[in-house]
Amino acid sequence: MRIGVHVRVGDGYRAAVEYARRLGCTAIQIFAGNPRSYRSSPIDSEGLDAFARLRAEAGVDPCVIHTSYLINLASEDPKIAGGSLRLLKYDLEVAAIGGIRYVNTHLGSYGKRDRGEGFDAACALLEAALAGISPGVYLVLENSAGAGSLCGGTLEELGRFVKAIDHPQLGVCLDTAHAWAAGYDIGSQSGVDAFVEEAAERIGLDRVHVFHFNDTEVPLGGNRDRHWHIGRGLIGIEGFRALAARPDLREKTAILETPGEEEDDARNMAAIRALFDDSAL
Ligand SMILES: [Zn+2]
Ligand SMILES: [Zn+2]
Repeated sequence: MRIGVHVRVGDGYRAAVEYARRLGCTAIQIFAGNPRSYRSSPIDSEGLDAFARLRAEAGVDPCVIHTSYLINLASEDPKIAGGSLRLLKYDLEVAAIGGIRYVNTHLGSYGKRDRGEGFDAACALLEAALAGISPGVYLVLENSAGAGSLCGGTLEELGRFVKAIDHPQLGVCLDTAHAWAAGYDIGSQSGVDAFVEEAAERIGLDRVHVFHFNDTEVPLGGNRDRHWHIGRGLIGIEGFRALAARPDLREKTAILETPGEEEDDARNMAAIRALFDDSAL
């Protein structure tokens, strides 16, 4: 697998790539803008060119853009739906200009809306976003922790999105903390095998491009979105060892979204890298 961490780009792209390189990353995830604002700054094409060059030089590629937390594709409020589509298109355009392979997004929440109606509305917005997608860019839908009316808490539902829209550049990102919170017991080899086999059946592994590797202290099926250090939460190191050992995931990209500062990122990266060193023996 290509492995990396989510990196803040507030100090510039050079500092972000330097940070990832220091940690031994072979992939990276960023926000393209402020993840809590509907306003987007003008696209910095020169900066993105430099970012692509620096990533290539450091071997830190692919890159994933995580979209804004404000995106809700299933909203019945036309302002929120329109704003969500605009944010999604912006990130897809940044990806196209910056040679960035993946744009990862949350689907949002059905709220009080009828789920079927919300599903159809989300599909329509995704289709509108995909209509303008550039070659080489993939839009990936992230599984949620599955609380209440959140979209995408199950592999079955993610599979329905992928099949209903049926676009070759639409795929999925599986976040381990969210999967655990949604009730998938991925703390053991047999649990991981069952999870990956269900993903293969419902979605197709060729559509699962990205993993988010996060441990969590939320109990199994607890439906809350909290990330914790690798091997120090309730999923535990064996779950990640089982994921690292699967040959059918070897071409995928894994991003850590664990809390803390550089020393925490370094420790979490080292914990994951050690699993790959083990499985290569
Ligand atoms: Zn996310
Ligand atoms: Zn995630």
